[in-house]
Amino acid sequence: MERLVCVNCGAAYPADEILYNCIKCGHLLAVQYNLDEIAVTKKVWEKRPLSVWRYRELLPVRIEPVTLQEGGTPLYHLNRLGEEMGLLHLYAKHEGMNPSGSFKDRGMTVGVSMALQLNMRSVACASTGNTSASLAVYAAKAGIPAVVLLPAGKVAIGKVAQALIHGARVISIRGNFDRALEMVHDLCLSHGLYLLNSINPYRLEGQKTIGFEAVDQLGGVPDRFVLPVGNAGNISAVYKGLLELEGLGFIDALPMMTGIQALGSSPVVRAIRENLPEVIPEPHPETVATAIRIGAPVNAEKALVAIRKTGGYAESVTDEEILQMQRDLARKEGIGVEPASAASVAGVKKLVESGVIDRSERIVCVVTGHLLKDPDTVIRQCEPPTEIDADLPSLLSALRL
Ligand SMILES: *Cc1c(COP(=O)(O)O)cnc(C)c1O
Ligand SMILES: [Zn+2]
Repeated sequence: MERLVCVNCGAAYPADEILYNCIKCGHLLAVQYNLDEIAVTKKVWEKRPLSVWRYRELLPVRIEPVTLQEGGTPLYHLNRLGEEMGLLHLYAKHEGMNPSGSFKDRGMTVGVSMALQLNMRSVACASTGNTSASLAVYAAKAGIPAVVLLPAGKVAIGKVAQALIHGARVISIRGNFDRALEMVHDLCLSHGLYLLNSINPYRLEGQKTIGFEAVDQLGGVPDRFVLPVGNAGNISAVYKGLLELEGLGFIDALPMMTGIQALGSSPVVRAIRENLPEVIPEPHPETVATAIRIGAPVNAEKALVAIRKTGGYAESVTDEEILQMQRDLARKEGIGVEPASAASVAGVKKLVESGVIDRSERIVCVVTGHLLKDPDTVIRQCEPPTEIDADLPSLLSALRL
């Protein structure tokens, strides 16, 4: 049976306790399985469709899950961008192809299923957008109410639209994400809602399947896994999952876990660069990539371990580099992602140029959310459509034919 274990002091708790932090020391919890008890083979997994639930033996859900067929996202070979960078083995896992358009769905199918399993009857989160969209979707599927807190004016329009249409109670607070999270955490503790931010160890269990799928799709472990980092839950989750695969003997090496942040919001990069024992929060995070506009990453302590133990790296990219890569992915690879997602590939470009990445490496970039999440940022970068009179000569003239 699995249990919850503190990543700092090692205190263990039963898996059915509603806990978000260690009672003894306040640090983060993680789900720990007894790998000896897990009787599954790669063959069994391979027979199931590629999806979060292919890996259900390594997930904590014992009931019929609340699912919309998340995961099974494409892994694209970036041949044109790779060639430009001198990389023959550059891949992007397009998490924008999930039901609500971001990888958060992997966490929420598990998280909302766990809410039901633990007899919780309402759910809540703070969000820079995608978490709220995903929670609204899965709460709708489960038939339970959801409350979401957003930083006012700082959430991409597509994400707000999703949270609203799927029926969440949407509250905009005059403060940033970090403050919204404190507030919703207090609300959940005082009023018994189930908190589904990435502080929730069960949500991360779903997200670790990105790594499992990439290994299955590539037919092996990549040399490097590159993710955009906001609250640092995803990079921590992928690392944890791959450690478990190693523990089961399914893989024999771990990829270099590499996190990319936006320059105006890069406390993890600083901690890695200056070899700090913990991150120093950035009080006023700013970036066009609103999904990673986070000053106090909740899962930083897990992420620092993931990066350091695998000989990985952390780098920051400017908003300009992010938007340039968003356009490059769109125009040279046909891959439409929101700005935060482009940060991972922009980071690879930078690290190749600075010599940190070796050109022979096999690299998987996670591109985290769909282009249509944030149409405003797209429109601002593009020439508007040419409007003409409705006749052929005007068309030919507009096309200079
Ligand atoms: C949530 C999110 C991130 C950041 O993930 P963390 O787990 O918070 O580090 C990056 N990109 C997109 C599109 C997201 O929705
Ligand atoms: Zn502890």
